[in-house]
Amino acid sequence: MQLDLSEREAEETVQLAGCGPIRMAGGGELAGPLRQLAYERIRSAGQIARVDLARVLDVSPATVTAVVSELLAAALVEEVEGTARPGARGRPPVALRVRGGAGYVIGIKLAEFKHTAVLTDMTGTTLASSTLPRSAHARSLKAVLEEAARLVDDVTARAGVTRDQVIALGAGLPGLVDHPEGRVLWSSVLEGEDVALAHRLTERLGIPAWIDNDTNLLTLAELWFGRGRMARDFAVVSIEQGVGMGLVLGQSLYRGAHSLALELGHTKVQLDGALCRCGQRGCLEAYTSDYALVREAHTALELGSHLQLSPQMVLESLHDRAKAGNEGARNIFRRAGRYMAAGLANVINLFDPSLVILSGERMQYQYLYAEEVMREMGELIVGRGRRPPDVAVNTWGDLVWARGAAALALDIAAQKLAGRDAA
Ligand SMILES: [Zn+2]
Repeated sequence: MQLDLSEREAEETVQLAGCGPIRMAGGGELAGPLRQLAYERIRSAGQIARVDLARVLDVSPATVTAVVSELLAAALVEEVEGTARPGARGRPPVALRVRGGAGYVIGIKLAEFKHTAVLTDMTGTTLASSTLPRSAHARSLKAVLEEAARLVDDVTARAGVTRDQVIALGAGLPGLVDHPEGRVLWSSVLEGEDVALAHRLTERLGIPAWIDNDTNLLTLAELWFGRGRMARDFAVVSIEQGVGMGLVLGQSLYRGAHSLALELGHTKVQLDGALCRCGQRGCLEAYTSDYALVREAHTALELGSHLQLSPQMVLESLHDRAKAGNEGARNIFRRAGRYMAAGLANVINLFDPSLVILSGERMQYQYLYAEEVMREMGELIVGRGRRPPDVAVNTWGDLVWARGAAALALDIAAQKLAGRDAA
């Protein structure tokens, strides 16, 4: 097993100070004691003066002074020189910001071909990252725990942080994950069913661990670090091996009754249609995902069966040929794009989000959001004169999933440090 360390940082992080959702009118307010709410507001602002903190929390200056004193005494926040107000005289006011070194969190993405991990401080700044290549088959629980431990050892060593300074760990993986119970009902990367993975990670690593479906983590990455920070309601659609979806309503991740992921990929776009890997027919995924394209490419491109091409190589070859003007290859992408348009229009018709973010590692295949796909999507949206939502494409690097896992851990860490758990 070889550790391949990735230096690649998020390439398209939206340049706003702080991290975490920027609370806005109509957004869901976080529950928790005032001290925790104050901490979260300071974190999302980057830095903020006491007077502004009182305003956004809608409490008196005296209350803010008391709460901030507690946070300062616990060394969770620190004072910095603020920015002078235009036209104001004298010294700039003192501002508050979260103290990065008050604690650390780790986010891990467990995937079929490689695992990734990041270690961040309490401001959400990534201090170290690590990538662990692996073969594409399900592993035993013991092997997965071992791989997670390797990643934790690596990122802590790189950041110069000890394990006992790490407050929380978030981990994401594909499949059916029960987030509140910390159980993996089924995953392509882990053998067995109904595995108490969060508990076993906590036990093995000595760090309190939480798990979630990987698409939810991608959505959290957008909510905490990306374009979703300023959006009240938005959907994230990821196109990789499958088609996943995460939904944020009122600035909170929507988890549904069973806390499983939203299976956009298995909504039906064609009755009695193509066979999907879930065993049913006509799923969106059966027309748009990697394996669907690879299946069609083999027929259309007459790839010799003697050639041992990986699915990735087949996809790249298909993409190259489409770009070079090969009609057969273009038609495959066009068809996938049309189904994608139908899938996206369904999401918009159901949830009316202000923003749809297409995210994941495969967004280089521009057919998925080509102009004609967007036009077709617009035509499939119901509502006279209704303006389609903004569709954004995020092509940030493969650490985005691990950063989403870190966001999950940062949320827990804030509760532990400043919330009820700290009282
Ligand atoms: Zn399916």
